[in-house]
Amino acid sequence: MPEEIVPVLVVGGGPVGLALAGDLGWRGISCTLIEQSDGSIYQPRMDLVGVRTMEFCRRWGLVPAVEASPYPRDYAQDNIYLTSLTGHELGRERFPGIGQAPPPKESPQRRERCPQNMFDPILRSFAASQKNVAMHYRARLVSFTQDSAAVTATVENADSGVRREITARFIVGCDGGRSLVRETLGIAMHGNPVLTYTTNVIFRCPDLLSLHDKGKAYRHIFIGPEGTWSTMVAINGRDEWRFSIIGGARQHDYTTDEIAAAIRRAVGRDFAFEILSVLPWVRRELVAERYRNGRGFIAGDAAHVMSPTGGFGMNTGIGDVVDLSWKLAAVLEGWGGERLLDSYGAERQPIGARNVTEASGNLRRMLSVGPHPDLLDDTPQGAAARATVGRVFSETMRREWFTLGAHLGYRYEGSPICWPDGSTAPPDNPNSYVPTARPGHRAPHAWLADGRSMLDLFGRGFVLLGFGADAEAATALLTAARRRGVPMTFAAISEPQIAALYGRQFVLVRPDGHVAWRDDRMPDDPLALIDLVSGAAMPAPYRVMAATGNSV
Ligand SMILES: Cc1cc2nc3c(=O)[nH]c(=O)nc-3n(C[C@H](O)[C@H](O)[C@H](O)COP(=O)(O)OP(=O)(O)OC[C@H]3O[C@@H](n4cnc5c(N)ncnc54)[C@H](O)[C@@H]3O)c2cc1C
Repeated sequence: MPEEIVPVLVVGGGPVGLALAGDLGWRGISCTLIEQSDGSIYQPRMDLVGVRTMEFCRRWGLVPAVEASPYPRDYAQDNIYLTSLTGHELGRERFPGIGQAPPPKESPQRRERCPQNMFDPILRSFAASQKNVAMHYRARLVSFTQDSAAVTATVENADSGVRREITARFIVGCDGGRSLVRETLGIAMHGNPVLTYTTNVIFRCPDLLSLHDKGKAYRHIFIGPEGTWSTMVAINGRDEWRFSIIGGARQHDYTTDEIAAAIRRAVGRDFAFEILSVLPWVRRELVAERYRNGRGFIAGDAAHVMSPTGGFGMNTGIGDVVDLSWKLAAVLEGWGGERLLDSYGAERQPIGARNVTEASGNLRRMLSVGPHPDLLDDTPQGAAARATVGRVFSETMRREWFTLGAHLGYRYEGSPICWPDGSTAPPDNPNSYVPTARPGHRAPHAWLADGRSMLDLFGRGFVLLGFGADAEAATALLTAARRRGVPMTFAAISEPQIAALYGRQFVLVRPDGHVAWRDDRMPDDPLALIDLVSGAAMPAPYRVMAATGNSV
């Protein structure tokens, strides 16, 4: 018999499940996380922690831990295109070491290089440090059912085989691409199930840098006469490298000899190295048709599986759970309505689709080099081919390397819980980000006179910003929030440049840091606005506005 009802059961202790458990705990919501493995990372996948994820880490107090992770902060992050490490360099995009690049002016944080075997433990200790988060490793979800009151999950101890039941108000599947939670909820994935059959190999070679003249670089893209065929990244900035044979649409199981030959081809000479792990995997382009069914939700790779080109996978997943967590908290605390839960998929599924598409585009661009039979030839034709490939490829690849817009510019257009203001959205361009406080967008960063970022104001409840207005002028909305039990604080901002950036006298920011509403005056019906942004109801004026895009 079940012993207790846990508010949220998080299935999966990858980065996304850990972030969700941590954020729920940080909000004071009890949850139980189950993870079938012991949490060890045998082959790190993600290593780029994007700038938005770092902003969440800032909210959670994790920036010092990320910055202290063992990836050397002075290790040059160049992306280099070459025939082999001892062969021809075709092009290079230079980037300084992570710790040497200042944050972009649009954020208080910079992106970080923190591979999964370093980042997961940071998220794990964040979640574990929340007193209301219970974490069970070697605990596998076997099945679950749901009814109108609860979810009942059967969980098996992976060592003893003993099964027990956990009853929860909600279940969130952060259980990766093969998600049992998604399957049980009957949610289909749409897209392309096979882009490539790729083989990743982690190998160790402490003196690799001394074997060639290309210097330190993060990513190496190897181009042969047949086109782009493999990549290699400095996975720990020291002695370990992740080599990927990109492969194609047909599966090929590589022997150890074939893998070793491929690594030697990429380096361009014989040398000694140790293969630490080999991981064949399928690169996919899939998005779930919806993110919720009843009391069940999916997030992270359970909801979208994309090519790693661009480093969007985990970052998108962490964006999912930051959107979901406060909504679950609001409903569990009694001030959030049912519509809040539906808004999760409405807001996040289009972002999943956007990022999956961008990631596939990056793959296509990386593979866009056609065959050049004379690429390696020591002839004028060979030199001309190398110059052309290098120039065109360097230009083509820039879209993948400069992605501030992809990480910061996502917006919840048409969200059922944001009140549109009739303004025009800036273009959604992966390479450039236009800060705006338009409803649905991330409330932009700016430095306050006291040294804080605007982002430091957001995270717990709603924050009503008043530009040149005091709390008394905002009484109508603050009172309406209090009447509905919606947590809302007021912050007066006096810096004129921030007022110009936010564009209205009043701006209402949600607990996840996105703008819910803005105007130069208090709303005519403050309760209607509160009901909309807390998911309690869709008021009649909003319906007119959502249909026409105009203010009423
Ligand atoms: C080569 C490569 C490089 C990448 N680089 C980046 C990058 O730089 N940046 C980025 O953002 N993304 C990157 N990604 C993608 C990123 O790794 C994934 O998007 C991310 O790991 C997804 O996290 P997740 O928590 O959703 O799923 P996962 O990491 O897959 O975790 C799911 C967890 O659920 C557990 N689980 C599954 N079923 C059950 C069950 N029934 N019961 C209990 N537990 C269960 C699994 O054991 C697993 O631990 C990369 C991917 C690859 C392949």
